Amino acid sequence: MQPLQLLDASVRAQFPLFTSTASAMPLIYLDSAASTQQPTAVIAAVSDYHRQSHANIHRGVYQLSQTATRLYEEARLTVARFLNAADPAECIFTRGATESINLVAACWGAANLHAGDEIILSTLEHHSNIVPWQLIAQKTGAQIRVIPINDAGELELEAYRQLLSPRTRLVAVNQVSNALGTINPVREIIAAAHAVGAVVLIDGAQWVAHGVTDVQALDADFYVFSGHKLYGPTGIGVLYGKRHLLDAMPPYQGGGDMIEQVTFERTTYAPLPSKYEAGTPNISGAVGLATAIKWVEALGLAQISAHEQALLQHATARLSAIFGLEIKGTAAQKSGVVSWVVVDPPLSTLDIGVELDLRGICIRTGHHCCQPLMERLGIAATARASFGVYNNLDDIDRLADALTEIIAAARAKQSAQLEKGGWEDLKLTTAASPAAAAAEIAEVFEFLPDWPQRHQYVIDLGDKLPPMPAALKTAATAVHGCQSTVHIAARLAPGSTDMIEFLADSDANLVRGLIALLQQLYSGQSAAAILAFDAEAFFASIGLDQHLSMSRRNGLAAMVQRVRQLAQRVVIS
Ligand code: PLP
Repeated sequence: MQPLQLLDASVRAQFPLFTSTASAMPLIYLDSAASTQQPTAVIAAVSDYHRQSHANIHRGVYQLSQTATRLYEEARLTVARFLNAADPAECIFTRGATESINLVAACWGAANLHAGDEIILSTLEHHSNIVPWQLIAQKTGAQIRVIPINDAGELELEAYRQLLSPRTRLVAVNQVSNALGTINPVREIIAAAHAVGAVVLIDGAQWVAHGVTDVQALDADFYVFSGHKLYGPTGIGVLYGKRHLLDAMPPYQGGGDMIEQVTFERTTYAPLPSKYEAGTPNISGAVGLATAIKWVEALGLAQISAHEQALLQHATARLSAIFGLEIKGTAAQKSGVVSWVVVDPPLSTLDIGVELDLRGICIRTGHHCCQPLMERLGIAATARASFGVYNNLDDIDRLADALTEIIAAARAKQSAQLEKGGWEDLKLTTAASPAAAAAEIAEVFEFLPDWPQRHQYVIDLGDKLPPMPAALKTAATAVHGCQSTVHIAARLAPGSTDMIEFLADSDANLVRGLIALLQQLYSGQSAAAILAFDAEAFFASIGLDQHLSMSRRNGLAAMVQRVRQLAQRVVIS
């Protein structure tokens, strides 16, 4: 085991978010793989640019415009040095990794892919390195092949070599998996692809903030990353491409700055990099990104890597000691990412995320935009902690202690729960209408002063929900659009011609609580009354939507939709 080499606490002190006294609870931020926080140096550089130097670039003859142009182009020089690109013109500013990949797929793909050609991706890819290739494959008739992984979450390199053939035109893989943290041997992957004449795109979104990048040493044809995962601003990223490839590709978007000459008959295009930067770019974003790069370099990528490896080592040891928790992704080479599921007792990742949030701990839960990977692992989601320069061992200990507490509470609750359920246990609402039931719920919410107490109330309601018999959990009752598993079965109440009752269940406690709220609103009401009630407006009016992520709000909307569809059927029949 390596000795722990941690960065000094003065690094964390440079991040205003962690020194703010606005919140009563110290914030533990463990979601840097989604987005890193920004140090004062970056915030100040963006702010100074807006205060002192902003004008449109490349066009104005006045001094201010020339200053803005200089800052923007200096940012490009910084990016080129950071990546060790041979020529700054090979570094195109984009909105981020996603846009960079879409650009290559659309432009390089349109010019180079034909029916029967093959694109190789890997099981570890983020959707942003899958969907753009599917779009261009559909247009060109190219086929997508996928590198498998082993159970540790490492690419099967032998299988990769077997996939390579003269039909392979492009290989697109990430350098680090955002969901599992696996560091991929990209140099080897590139060399093997080049041996069959294929071009390689490396998605460096999860690498650039964690180790030195040298596109020439890698011999990458395209390399992409985003500023907001590198302590920089959102809305700015980079596409690096070898000049001969970028020169030969058609432009991505048409507009100002990307042209040499325009007539109504014909347009000629500007040279690199302008050819791919149509319109006014994110100038302050480029300035912020360059500052972030210099800030990271001053700290030293070797020191950052040692710090994150120390956190990873500690987190792996602490989390794997928790009974019932399983770490997903155990590759020999990993970056500062730990993904896990809780299997005993089974706990949905949504509940884990919400419970940790109530303790001031931010982690990511869900499929991490890697649904094919989740499918390969046989799970719907993981909970993920990812580390940055500001994290310390205490953050990890707080996470591990909170998880131990959450799992122990879930275990105690599980053993106390009686096995009951089915339609017989269903208590129909006594409210006269959904609106009357809504008023009762709103009154309780009003009485509870804050989100932690309202959350607990919703969870308690969910605990009282009668479990749905396994026989009713079929494909027909499954609700799509929810990240957790949800089933809703509805029927006409026995002896009634228009009264609906429904049973529902979910693997997530919070969703069970939402189902209980829906039951209070709807179960035992007439189909016409259900259709007349605007549940979404009601949930917004009690502020519930503010505390639900977008996917959860969509899930709630999907459940409401399902009940309304069933009510509709009753009205029509
Ligand atoms: N690739 C990987 C591996 C990622 O983790 C992400 C974001 O999480 C992306 C691409 C997309 O990055 P962005 O949303 O900044 O475009």
